[in-house]
Amino acid sequence: MAYVVVGERSVLVDTGSAGEEERILRGMRRFNLDPGRISLLLHTHGHTDHAGSTRALKERLRVPAAVHPADAAKLRAGDSGPLIPLRFSSRVISLFLDPKFPPVEPDLLIDEGYSLAEFGIPATLLHTPGHTPGSVSVLFEDGRAIAGDLMMGGSLGGALRPFDPGYHYFAEDLPGLRRSIRKLLDRGAKTIYLGHGGPLDAQRVRERFASDFPAV
Ligand SMILES: [Zn+2]
Ligand SMILES: [Zn+2]
Repeated sequence: MAYVVVGERSVLVDTGSAGEEERILRGMRRFNLDPGRISLLLHTHGHTDHAGSTRALKERLRVPAAVHPADAAKLRAGDSGPLIPLRFSSRVISLFLDPKFPPVEPDLLIDEGYSLAEFGIPATLLHTPGHTPGSVSVLFEDGRAIAGDLMMGGSLGGALRPFDPGYHYFAEDLPGLRRSIRKLLDRGAKTIYLGHGGPLDAQRVRERFASDFPAV
């Protein structure tokens, strides 16, 4: 998946799977968005379906790739690393998911508090680890957020009941993931856009996960 955030300059959040660069650029033109305005490739995390076309897009657009330091090694290696399943169905799915993608050197390491103001975009970054150690969310001033794979909407990768909040198939650190979901809500997220399914309403997310949150 990929999101185009349009400001004075545009930021592409995630780059889909390997070989999707043409699809992303075509999709932008269809919405009258100029790919030449993209100034940054920002990654919610370093998995194959979020960083797969980064190398190709970096070469085409000649723009920097940004990732949290804790996921930088995944981009450098072109390897999603351990896909630790939360449920039995995930074991089945992991058999079909190729963790490899074209490796790419990150140009910019980004962390909590990184601002997109220089692109004319009113948003900052939250470090929301759990799915991977370097997972981040983009939180906009109006309460919208892009949270990557922090959660999943619905089942079958979001194909069924996409607005129902749920866990993603994989998490490297489940308690950390729960803390990150609560952090995103506590920082004021209202509508949460995801890599798979969604968008999710914050109130429904709170209802779904409140009993899972670790005690303070
Ligand atoms: Zn992922
Ligand atoms: Zn994903």
